[in-house]
Parts: sequence; structure tokens; C-alpha cells
Amino acid sequence: MTPARTLLEFDDSYARQVPSLALPWTAAPVPAPELLVLNEGLAAELGVDAAVLREPAGVSVLVGRELPDGVTPVAQAYAGHQFGTYVPRLGDGRALLLGEVIDVHGRRRDVHLKGSGRTPFARGGDGLAAVGPMLREYLVGEAMHALGIPTTRALAVVATGERVVRESLLPGAVLCRVAASHLRVGTFQYAAASGDRDVLRALADHAIARHHPEAAGAANPYLELYRHVVEAQAGLVARWMLVGFVHGVMNTDNTTISGETIDYGPCAFLDAVDPATVFSSIDHTGRYAYGNQPAIAQWNLARLGETLLPLIDGDVDVAVEAATAVLTSFAETYARHHAEGTAAKLGLAAPDPDLAADLWELLRAQHVDFTTFFRSLAADTARSLFAEPELFDAWATRREALLPADRAAVVAAMNRVNPVYIPRNHLVEEALTAATAGDLAPFRRLVDVVSDPYEQRPDLDDYARPAPEGRDPYVTYCGT
Ligand code: AMP
Ligand code: MG
Repeated sequence: MTPARTLLEFDDSYARQVPSLALPWTAAPVPAPELLVLNEGLAAELGVDAAVLREPAGVSVLVGRELPDGVTPVAQAYAGHQFGTYVPRLGDGRALLLGEVIDVHGRRRDVHLKGSGRTPFARGGDGLAAVGPMLREYLVGEAMHALGIPTTRALAVVATGERVVRESLLPGAVLCRVAASHLRVGTFQYAAASGDRDVLRALADHAIARHHPEAAGAANPYLELYRHVVEAQAGLVARWMLVGFVHGVMNTDNTTISGETIDYGPCAFLDAVDPATVFSSIDHTGRYAYGNQPAIAQWNLARLGETLLPLIDGDVDVAVEAATAVLTSFAETYARHHAEGTAAKLGLAAPDPDLAADLWELLRAQHVDFTTFFRSLAADTARSLFAEPELFDAWATRREALLPADRAAVVAAMNRVNPVYIPRNHLVEEALTAATAGDLAPFRRLVDVVSDPYEQRPDLDDYARPAPEGRDPYVTYCGT
């Protein structure tokens, strides 16, 4: 056996437990694979020797070719509401699940490819992905992970040697993605729409086993599963809000059951605080604007609840009442996470709702840079960020009165939750433009910087600053 054959030991519990939602499929050949970036830390977590993954046989596995005997990749079926419109059949049009690996912590993780060729779910798509967007997913996923936000992560990006047709011809790539699972709200929508109660139950049981095993012993396991997903998503979106992250395409097929962030397409981080911020070129109505994200998450969870009703209770009225109570709890759970997170960002021992609300409004009105503000607050330099500093003074006096006595401890605690470095939009674009042209150095540097976001380092001031004044508003494109 070559090392690559023993490299990753794949299980296939998803394909075994819900075979009707797993279509066996083969990754497209890759003419000239070139490993662009390998996530050594993540490889170690998976228990794989990174050096072996870098060898040709390892790179072959990373693009889904030359897999260990008996491993059959599958395209996963799912439906989804895209910008509010239900699409009954989406699925992995250009992606494949290679299988599941038990990591060194004993956690089951999906290993999945994106850009691995057309599948029967491809509809009009070419099944391919371009280097820039795949590196973007790698970069933002690492930044989110370093910020302590649940997320899928990229193990590798491999250039294919092929050209991909987008607005222009771009170099192609395959992303290898690791996730707690790829179960989505849309997976449940697909199973529910099939009308086959056994498939739906098998899917829910698989989700319980993977993400909430305690629920199996509950009086109503499926209601418990729902409660767990609602709580996970409420916590997740609160964390997004607390770093100024805009996902950009919160369709139900991009909403996970695990509570991990998934699908870094048109996402971006705020500069100035503004709830109306939209980066995606196709989000004309602002459905997925920064400030709408909690409401949209709850809307997506309502769609999940609908699919689970037949499992929750045979009496639909009873099921609706129970599910509605869980769904309603989203608002409170979200508000608690957000209030506690805001308090921590401000150095307070406990939330102060009025102080927090007045701050968010002040930051919005004064167009203050989100990330810079919180770090400057700890450094006592925030005043200069305000066009009308006396408005800040009034607010700061109120905060001052609430601060714990040990100021050094306050500053240290704030600096542990307020990052210096996020993937600033202009830096991301510069890095991806260079990478697409063949120079990966700026990309690697940026990954390094955002992978250690809380520790201020000398010579990295450029990475901490917002985009230079006078730039056009940042726009992201879905054509990935
Ligand atoms: P996404 O916007 O990446 O969440 O994808 C939404 C849906 O479109 C999923 O069903 C994808 O598999 C599919 N899709 C996106 N891009 C392509 C592509 N280039 N080829 C085939 N299917 C695609
Ligand atoms: Mg998606």
C-alpha cells in the first residue's frame, strides 16, 4: 500500500444511513494538479501527516482521485430557499463528500470537495471552481476559526491546471473542505419533500447521532434536535454580529445543522458599522444585510421546524405548538449571546442593554470602523474615531462608571475578544488578485495575520487599518 492509501481512513455513515440522499459519483480528472495551500494545523487535527499529503499521491486524494479502495464519493441531495424562493432540487452540483474521518479528538468530520466536476445536480453549472474564490473560502474560514467562531475549514486548495469560464478565463481549483457535517436545513427540506417519512427519520437520527447524541434519550428526540439547532444557530449568528461578519447568502441550503458557518461566497466584514450593509452584488433588496442576519436565521429555522413536524408529533397541532415554542426561543437566546458578547467587548462584567444600544446607534451615526473601535476603546484612543467626539464622551462616562476596578485586567480581557486583524476587504482582494496571477506570497501572509487576530504585532499596522478613504463601496460577486 502506498502511504496515501492509509493516509485518511474514510467512513461513510452518511451514505449508509441515508442512501437515498447520497448519490455515488466520481470526481473529474484533474490534468495538472498543483497544491497551492495546505492547512497543516488542520491536517494534524485529522491525524494526517502533512508531508504525505504534499506528495503526488496525497494531492490526488485532495482532488478526489486515487482514493483508498472501497471509498465512493457521493453528491449530497438537498433543496433550499434561495433568497426566499424554494428550489426543490439543489444538491452538490460541483461538490462531493469523500467520506468522514474521525479526528484526533474523536470527532467525526466530513471531508468534502468543491469544484470537483459536474454531478447530476449541476443543472446549468460547469461543476468547477476558480482559484480566487476557493482561496477566499480558505482565508475567511481560517479567520473565523481563529476568532473562535464555529466554521467549516479548508484543508487544501489544489489548482487544476484547467481554465474556468467566468466573466473571464480563470485558473481552476478544487477546495478540500472539512466540516462537522454537511447537513443543512435544505437537506431536511429535501427529505421532507420526498414524502418518505422513513428517509426523514433516518436523516434526523443521523443528525442526532452526529450533533446532539443526548437528544436520542429525550422524551421527544426530534424536538430536542430542533432545540439544539436553534440554539447553535442563535449563538453562531450572535458571534457573526459581534465581529461585523456579513455572510451574504444565508439561503437555507447554506444554513448548517451543526451550527458551523458554511459557504464563504460573497461574505465580507464591515468597515463602518451599519446594519444596512450589503456586499453581494445580487442582494438587491438587502435581504441578507448585516442587520437582518438574526431575523433571517430565525426564518431559516422556521423552515427547518416545518420539516420536522411529522416527527415531532402525529397530531399536527401539537407538533406546531411545540416547534413554535422552540423557534420563539431563538430571539431570547440570540439576545443573550449578543448582550453578553457586547459586554465582554466593552470590558463590562455584565450586560447593560441601554449602554449597548446607545453605542451601536452612536457607531452607526458616526460611521466608526467596527474593528478599530473596540480595540481603541481598550487603548483609550477611541475618541479620535468620532466626528463628534463629545457624543462619545457622554457615552464613555456612562461606561466608565460600570467598569470593574482592576483596569489592567479589563484591558487584557477586552484584547482577548476584540481582534486587531480581520480579513479586511481591500487586503483580501489584493491577496486574491496576486494569487490568481500566480503570486501566493500576499495570500500566505494574510492567512498568517488573520490566524492570530488578537495579538498586536509590530510591522503589521497596514493589516489593522480600514480601507483607504475614498474607495468605492466594496462589492462581492456570487460567480464563484
Ligand atoms: P452556493 O451558491 O455555492 O451555495 O451553491 C448553490 C447551488 O448551486 C448548489 O446546488 C451548488 O452545487 C450549485 N452550484 C454553484 N456553482 C456551481 C457550478 N459552477 N456548477 C454546478 N453547480 C453549481
Ligand atoms: Mg451552498
